[in-house]
Amino acid sequence: MKFHSTRNHDRKYALSYALEHSLAEDGGLFVPESFPQFTIKSFDGLELLPDIACRWLEPFFQNDRLQEFLPEICRQTFSFPIPLKRLDDKTEVLELFHGPTCAFKDVGARFLAECLSRLTEPNAPLKTVLVATSGDTGAAVAAAFYGRPGFEVIILFPRGKVSARQEKQLTSWGQNVRAFAVQGDFDDCQRIVKAAFSDPWWKLNRSLVSANSINIGRLLPQAAYYVKASLTHWREEGVAPFLIVPSGNLGNATAALWAKKTGLPIEKVVLATNANATITNFFRTEKWAPVPTVVTLANAMDVGNPSNMERIRDLYPDFKKLKTDIDSVLATDLQITTAIKESDIKWKVEFCPHTATAAFARTNFKDFASILVATAHPAKFETIVEPLLKRPIEIPLALNKLLSQPSHVKALEPTLEALTKSCAEPLA
Ligand SMILES: *Cc1c(COP(=O)(O)O)cnc(C)c1O
Repeated sequence: MKFHSTRNHDRKYALSYALEHSLAEDGGLFVPESFPQFTIKSFDGLELLPDIACRWLEPFFQNDRLQEFLPEICRQTFSFPIPLKRLDDKTEVLELFHGPTCAFKDVGARFLAECLSRLTEPNAPLKTVLVATSGDTGAAVAAAFYGRPGFEVIILFPRGKVSARQEKQLTSWGQNVRAFAVQGDFDDCQRIVKAAFSDPWWKLNRSLVSANSINIGRLLPQAAYYVKASLTHWREEGVAPFLIVPSGNLGNATAALWAKKTGLPIEKVVLATNANATITNFFRTEKWAPVPTVVTLANAMDVGNPSNMERIRDLYPDFKKLKTDIDSVLATDLQITTAIKESDIKWKVEFCPHTATAAFARTNFKDFASILVATAHPAKFETIVEPLLKRPIEIPLALNKLLSQPSHVKALEPTLEALTKSCAEPLA
């Protein structure tokens, strides 16, 4: 299997190249050159997620340097539970938040780390994973690369703009993970990261690696949990479900669409968004017109210009077909808080603000079998959820462990020079 850029289908790349480079030279995103076709039978005899993941991922890894390592990469990545739980006759929830940082981004970050460490020669110079984050990504990347020989992680996050528990998850690592609280916003963090990738000092002194959410190594493993969920649903009910996916940059939804494209029984993928309206506007007007980001309660989905739309439009050149397979629903902050309260009453389930957008979107598709995708643990967003439910949310073990660790964080002026100066000093 080869991969090509969304902007040029002629030039082909190996999977390893796409994993190591994140973006094609033409600025496009890597996508598979074709989609292998699976049937229910293709997965006969397989029950466990690492095995199902491995079967689905095999064709994408064929003839790549990583091919022989795929089973081990899957075992290492999918080592925590991803349960599908029933809420009522028509509704299930797929809980993606039982990993080390309690959000679905753990899956992609771990898979990418497992791949990249197998692509690195034992005596290669240290690789520096440089990542800008507005919260969940940085924590997942830190957890995935923490203590991994041959790698260090530098996280930039906007000071005072992430929740207290998110900050703790970014700064409680130590060892090979360094966190900087940038005096600015997320865009400043991203600007510094971009500048570092083309800066002479960094080119000479560090071997930089990007682990951002457009890397195909983060998308492919996400498709695997949709493969398993749709397969399980089909085996039990004989019906193809709707997948309702809380969406920001559209990576998780693209993975769901790739699972559908390969023949898995998925009726429709519903993009549940917060008040950032770029996606829902597109479905209404057929015009792609990104708008500035607005701040909402579901902050990991505060994206005004979702990068992975480029992959979705590449998959669906025909708008009519796109509208048949995909739908989108916007939830305002008020609809999010209402959905958190109603889900607690109706289903006795505690949802984070992101998952609540999916619960809200489901009301449009009540007559169909739906799987709501739960992207983060509610305890990560306790300042929003606890006052609504008027009780404390139990803290999962992984989060509790981090909360009790000391923080290691340095304040940083929002310039590349400041970062370079800090990093030129040896690791403390
Ligand atoms: C990142 C994130 C999302 C959005 O996922 P995309 O793949 O960017 O669409 C939703 N919920 C949570 C909790 C997240 O961390």
